[in-house]
Amino acid sequence: MSQTYTTTALVLKRRDHNEYDRLFCLYTKDYGKIDVLAKGTKKIVSKLNPYLEPFYLIKVMIAKGKVFDKLANCNLIKPYQNLRQDLFGFALINYLSEVIDGLIHGQTMSSDKFELLINTLDILEEEISNSDKERLLMLANIFNLKLLNLLGYQPEVKRCLNCHRGILLPKNVFDFSHGGIICEQCKKVCLIEDYILVSDQVIKLLQLAQEKDLDFFSNLGIDQDTIKKFNQIVYKLLLVNMERPLKSIEFIKKL
Ligand SMILES: [Zn+2]
Repeated sequence: MSQTYTTTALVLKRRDHNEYDRLFCLYTKDYGKIDVLAKGTKKIVSKLNPYLEPFYLIKVMIAKGKVFDKLANCNLIKPYQNLRQDLFGFALINYLSEVIDGLIHGQTMSSDKFELLINTLDILEEEISNSDKERLLMLANIFNLKLLNLLGYQPEVKRCLNCHRGILLPKNVFDFSHGGIICEQCKKVCLIEDYILVSDQVIKLLQLAQEKDLDFFSNLGIDQDTIKKFNQIVYKLLLVNMERPLKSIEFIKKL
């Protein structure tokens, strides 16, 4: 890195720092998750403030610093206005933000995950006024499942975790402690405690969510029970991998 660098970023969160400054946690395309100091942003007149709202997509120029890198300049690319103006949309933004913050640690090459997130936000921005809440949550959770895969926490949804045979018969379960499907035969002999029954449709949706791009799901006919179960499974997988509760989902449940 030279003295300054530019990248594309999403604003994840901010906190106060000193009398006039704030620290912003950015999720960037090229450098993963970084904290940058934005001088003077606690003042109303700061020229940077209009671009630093949560989940604004921005282009940033950052100057290397001894303790914190400093935000030198930024331009707004996309504000995701539809999501932001919708109460449920804003809750989804917070949910994704909390997941990114909880699962991604420090500066790593992240362009694949970043592109996936932007693609997800673009689709949610389009769908927010057309789709019901459970379906919107499904789209967010398909992103979350893909993110888990990219980070190496991929659940096994094609074969039984125990006998490694393909899923052929009904009455399978999803085992959260081992992260995948256990078939009906193996469930009788394996000691599993933390599990739920999954229909063939739910297994199919879990498989498709790993294979297909997000726009595949926009018009796909899926029944509500399958979507609900899928959302339940992905949320629980997040909890297992993050080892802490997500505040945003409690808010989503109330909406
Ligand atoms: Zn089995």
